[in-house]
Order: sequence, then structure tokens, then C-alpha cells
Amino acid sequence: MTPDTVPPGLPVPPPLRNDCFSLPAGVDWTPVDEALALLRERLHPVCAFERAPATAALGRVLAEDVIARRAHPPRSNSAVDGYGFAGPVPEGAHVLPLVEGRAAAGGDFAGAVPAGHAVRILTGAAVPEGVDSVVLEEDVSLQGGQIAFRGPLKAGANVRPAGEDVAAGAVALSAGRQITPSDLALLAAIGVGEVTLRKRLRVGVISTGDELVEAGTDAGVGKIPDANRPMLLAVLERLGHDPVDLGLLGDDRALLREALDEGAARVDAIITSGGASAGDEDHVSALLNEAGAMQQWRVAIKPGRPLALGLWQGVPVFGLPGNPVAAMVCTLVFARPALALLAGMGWVEPQGFDLPAGFGKRKKPGRREFQRARVRDGRVEPFASEGSGRISGLSWAEGLMELGDGERHVRPGDPVRFIPWGGFGL
Ligand code: AMP
Ligand code: MG
Repeated sequence: MTPDTVPPGLPVPPPLRNDCFSLPAGVDWTPVDEALALLRERLHPVCAFERAPATAALGRVLAEDVIARRAHPPRSNSAVDGYGFAGPVPEGAHVLPLVEGRAAAGGDFAGAVPAGHAVRILTGAAVPEGVDSVVLEEDVSLQGGQIAFRGPLKAGANVRPAGEDVAAGAVALSAGRQITPSDLALLAAIGVGEVTLRKRLRVGVISTGDELVEAGTDAGVGKIPDANRPMLLAVLERLGHDPVDLGLLGDDRALLREALDEGAARVDAIITSGGASAGDEDHVSALLNEAGAMQQWRVAIKPGRPLALGLWQGVPVFGLPGNPVAAMVCTLVFARPALALLAGMGWVEPQGFDLPAGFGKRKKPGRREFQRARVRDGRVEPFASEGSGRISGLSWAEGLMELGDGERHVRPGDPVRFIPWGGFGL
């Protein structure tokens, strides 16, 4: 029975729900996009500026726009090995006498090439005065100090004009950019040897749970190795932040309080995993609540339990679910853009693409789903199990498949969104 069919005067029955999203009346689950919009609105860069050599800038964030100190290319130069002259030349056969000498990359040709003459020129050589076009050496026959070739050839043929790539004084890279290997080439080419960067965002990682032992140590009966901390520290490293290991804690409120105090003094943001729900042993949310600065975000996402987001002594704390798959998904979907904002990168969106599904599935409405997936033969394959404790599936996967908030009936061949790990900045 739906509420609008209830006769007047009778109590409205609670809506029927048969999955884990069944909630007391009046409690809403925040859609992923709303949760993200809130983070985007409330966070801003917290990292100070520093100057650094461009060669040390890989993966770092530009604090200011980079202005080209010189044009690229600095001078008009030949794109090929051939012969240079003043163009254009019309259709038909042409014979031009060669001048003495040649223009080669790095060695200037002294003097000008008179009209009606040509000069030997090599790739990368600045075009001498009197030259604006180059004919490819393969298209030329050379005899007795003259070249013969067939036109037409446009003025400017095979010449890269000065500044065609980047003009001197132009903004070559914008503030917020995370420097890539290609950017290092660009910075070199435009004569920039030093850049203004944001200091790296220091992000502390804490695991919580009485059942956890340090990875690599003997886990007794009833204990499991802490899988989240190595994963999250590595994710932070890949994202370009400065990961700080704040350790593994049992479900002990006093110890956690101490760790948060110490962490807040050392880092710009803290990620915890475990204990973020509202149960007896969920000390992260309890403590943040106590500090009066916590929001429990019940985000309509699978996998993911509520996130505990709060400020601890002014430092943002992202309390992630303990389940490793949920911790990874929530890190990539929520913590990554939030940390990017804090780090001065601006807001970042996951970059995915639509590919045909290699499977069929019915999805319920009301929450967004991220499933471990990979692409084979151009089709998206999900991991065999949606079980969110299956760490091996994270390792098997090459990214996540995103199914939108609404109801969906995916048939084999239908387009589905696939976001490779690289699309999340990993
Ligand atoms: P919690 O969010 O603390 O209720 O934990 C949810 C599930 O994730 C439990 O089965 C925990 O044992 C597991 N878990 C929590 N933290 C970790 C961790 N760091 N490594 C591996 N599993 C974890
Ligand atoms: Mg726990």
C-alpha cells in the first residue's frame, strides 16, 4: 500500500523496504552528488606556498600560474630536412641555385638567402633571413649546385613558426595543476627553471579496530591484519600528498583521542578507517561527535556505511568505513576530491567513459553503486562477487564501474560507466 492510497484519518504505514537502506521515517540518505557539492562548497586550500626547482616539481601542485619566459619554439624553424627559400612557388617545375653553407639545428646560418635562391636546411634549424618555406629533400633532385622540384608549395610549408606552440608571456600552466612528466618538458621549453608550489598536503592515516594487528605480523585467532593502512597510505602517495602513518589503534576512546590530538598537531588532514558508524565500538564518530564538530554523512552509496566527517582541533577528519572495499571506494569518491581542494588542486572529477557491459544486472533505485571492474575485449566485466569484504576483488579490478542513483536494468551490450584507477588519479 502506498501512502496516497491510505484512507483519510488512518495512520500512514511506513514504506516497505527490504534492503539495508531501510531507515526510520524522516531520515534521508544524502545522494552522492549532494554530499560532493557540500564538500566542494565548504573546503578550501590549506597548504602554504614554496618555491622549488622545476625539476623537483613532479606530482606537485602549482600555487600560481606559470608564465612562459620564452616562446616555444623561440624561432621559426624547419620541420624537415630539405631546402629553404622564399615561398610560395606556383605549380610546375622549379630550379633554384643553392647558396653556400647550410642551416643546421644549433648552428646559425650567417647571412641572408637572396630571392630566387635556396639553402640546405636540416630539421630544427632556425630558418635564415629570406627563407619562409622548406621543400622536403625527398622531393628534390640535386645537380651542380642547383635543386629542382615541382610546385606548388605554400608559403610557410614545413616551417614551424616562432611561438606557434606557446607565445612568450602566455600562461602555459595554471595554478592548481598537478605537474606531470609532460609538464616538465613544457617548463623546460619555455625557460622556467623555478616554480611556486603548494606545500604537500600532509595526510595522516589511522586504522581502528580491536580485531586488527599490524600487517606482516602474526595474526592470532580472531585477529586480522590491518589491510587499510598500507592501502590508504599508498593511495595518498599516488594522489600526490604526503602520507603520514599515525598508526593502528584498538577500539579505545582514550587512545584514539590521544592519536587525534597528536595527529592534528602534525598533519593537515586525517583519514581514519573503522568505527565510523553509530555502534558501541564506533569511537571515531563518538569522539568527533563529542568534539561537537562532526557530521555523520549517510550517503546513498554502495559500498559504504555512513562517513564520519568532522574537524578535530581544526583539522578535517574523514572517518571512513572499515571494510577495505568501502574504504577504498569512499576514499576515491569523497576523500580524493576533498583532499584535492585542501591541497590547492581545485575540485577534481573522476574521469570515466562509457563502454558496453559484458554482463546483465538489475539495480535498485536510491543509491549509487561502485563495483570493482575491469575491461576486456572492449566490455566492462564486474568482479564475480559484490561482497564488500573481498579484498582480492580490489586487486583484480582495474577500476570501478559506476551505476547511477536511479533504477537500472543493464543488459549485455548496454553502455555502462567505467572509471579506470587512473581516472581517480591513481
Ligand atoms: P567497522 O567499520 O569498524 O565496523 O569495520 C567493518 C569491517 O571492516 C569489519 O569486518 C572489520 O574487521 C573490517 N576492517 C576494519 N578496519 C580494517 C582494516 N584496517 N583492515 C582490514 N579490515 C578492516
Ligand atoms: Mg571496527
